[in-house]
Amino acid sequence: MADFIMPRTNCQDPDVLSSDKKAKTQHKLPKPYINLATLWCLQCFRCAVRHLDEEPFDVFHVACSIDVRCPLTCDECKDRDDKCDWIPQGIRGHVFELMALIKFVEKYWTDDIAYKDGYESQEKAYAELGTAINGLCTAFDDLVETHKKDHMLTGNVSDEAKAGYFAWCEARQHMVRPNTQYIEGLHFQYARRATEHLRLRMGEGASISWAAAICAFYLAVTSTVEKYVTSWSYSIVDQFPLEIPDL
Ligand SMILES: [Zn+2]
Ligand SMILES: [Zn+2]
Repeated sequence: MADFIMPRTNCQDPDVLSSDKKAKTQHKLPKPYINLATLWCLQCFRCAVRHLDEEPFDVFHVACSIDVRCPLTCDECKDRDDKCDWIPQGIRGHVFELMALIKFVEKYWTDDIAYKDGYESQEKAYAELGTAINGLCTAFDDLVETHKKDHMLTGNVSDEAKAGYFAWCEARQHMVRPNTQYIEGLHFQYARRATEHLRLRMGEGASISWAAAICAFYLAVTSTVEKYVTSWSYSIVDQFPLEIPDL
């Protein structure tokens, strides 16, 4: 999902400005940026994971934005003189699974949650939830890297590998079965969007490790919330956005 940052507009009518002023006004307009809330590049994702290690009390957030006029490289990679590593098409659905789970726990940072022992419990809960997110992100990173190696998508990717991968993705499009059920809440919307994109079948690549990471995340969040949050029972089971994998 993309969040649009609307460019600020000058309140003067451009038609009444001189050509000099028009040129200056156009020059001053901010670039049309889009924040990539889900389809971020791997470099920016890894920056966010490192930030979580350093600042476990901050909300997990991937800062990756593109200029719509040259969207092939994100602004952050442009600044680092790097080339974006985008998530391969064949596993894009798993990005939405990851984001659904991250959004699901975000409320413990952003909402008014009642903790059993006040601030002390809140700090412990943040640390444990941060560790749970970190474990999930590590498993996701492993899923991506394994998939790229399996399809020879690392380093300088040959035209043959690109063509082979494109054909592999095309041949699987029939497996995409979008879930049309709407449930309120961004974490449920991301879970629904996961069904609109390609995902691995159980047993392919690192899919079993990824499924195990989802189970571990569920158990870690349940245990943390039970320990530190009051009136927790209503939310965890009903609000968990993904099916718990049957391993
Ligand atoms: Zn980026
Ligand atoms: Zn990038």
